[in-house]
Amino acid sequence: MQRYIRQTILPQIGNAGQEKLLSSKVLIIGAGGLGHPVAQYLAAMGVGDIKIVDGDTVSITNLHRQILFTDDDIGKNKAEVLSQKIKMINHEVDVSFVPVFLDKKLALDLFATSDLIIDCTDNFESKFLINDVCALYDKPMIYGAISQFEGQVGVFWSSKGACYRCLYPSVPKSKIQNCAEAGVVGPVVGTIGSLQAMGAMKVLISRNDELTSLIGRVNFYNFYDHSYRSLRINLRPTCQCHKATFNEDAIFEANPVDCHYKSTAILVDVREENEWSEFHIEGSCHLPLSELENGRVPDFTLDREVILICKAGVRAERAREILQKMNYKNIQCSKRSVYEYQT
Ligand SMILES: [Zn+2]
Repeated sequence: MQRYIRQTILPQIGNAGQEKLLSSKVLIIGAGGLGHPVAQYLAAMGVGDIKIVDGDTVSITNLHRQILFTDDDIGKNKAEVLSQKIKMINHEVDVSFVPVFLDKKLALDLFATSDLIIDCTDNFESKFLINDVCALYDKPMIYGAISQFEGQVGVFWSSKGACYRCLYPSVPKSKIQNCAEAGVVGPVVGTIGSLQAMGAMKVLISRNDELTSLIGRVNFYNFYDHSYRSLRINLRPTCQCHKATFNEDAIFEANPVDCHYKSTAILVDVREENEWSEFHIEGSCHLPLSELENGRVPDFTLDREVILICKAGVRAERAREILQKMNYKNIQCSKRSVYEYQT
């Protein structure tokens, strides 16, 4: 316990608190800017079992804020690289990773056996999914979000207070909003992630009655103005997550527009002009496969993260082959059809 003595001398932690940390199982969803400080601090403070979930790969545009990643990590799975790096911080803790994006089935599998779930994602869909599965299993959720110079942190626990849906009842309509490059700086994600790690520690070591003031409290920071406000979110009477009838069927299924998982990606539709003019996803770009086959050069840069989408997946796959031959490095295909988004 020598390793942890500077924290165990604090009466709020003590040896009893340290034992709780060492026997805790924590799930970190997202190995990006928020996931980095969360994973680092949790490993260093001795959280005994840490699992990191992320299907994304490291790209050059991540390096300015996801500070454990280096140029050598580009193209590798984020969850895998982050777990390797935090293992080096503390060999006494058990670190594992799941190299895929969270979906409903995976959440149902993983959350049941975790003590705490930390939301380090960058999209509304994942946050709703995390919230709902946490509510189903009655697990605490440490919420974090950032946009430009602003950040939010909160603790939700549906049986003891408000949940994320009490704050935001439903997913905002502007589906593709996250694809735009809103911009972000390292210290903002570093600070919010550190506050999440602190919230996680508090939840793990505290008795339930000590958490009353924490649950449902969300702090909003503007780091550019150095201002902040703290809001107490009340349990919303109509929120489904606190009702006895809440079950697996009511869980939000993450919207499958893949670019929601990647705030810097653009969605490129490779169907032909007539199909595009009939229907296309708001905010997507258009690059018909026929034009690509005829030598058209895309107007995005070689390292731009791009998700290709079409009707059945065949043309997106063909477009990916062509773009990869042209040295575009971050090209993926959507697993879904454009028409799944037609309302
Ligand atoms: Zn709620």
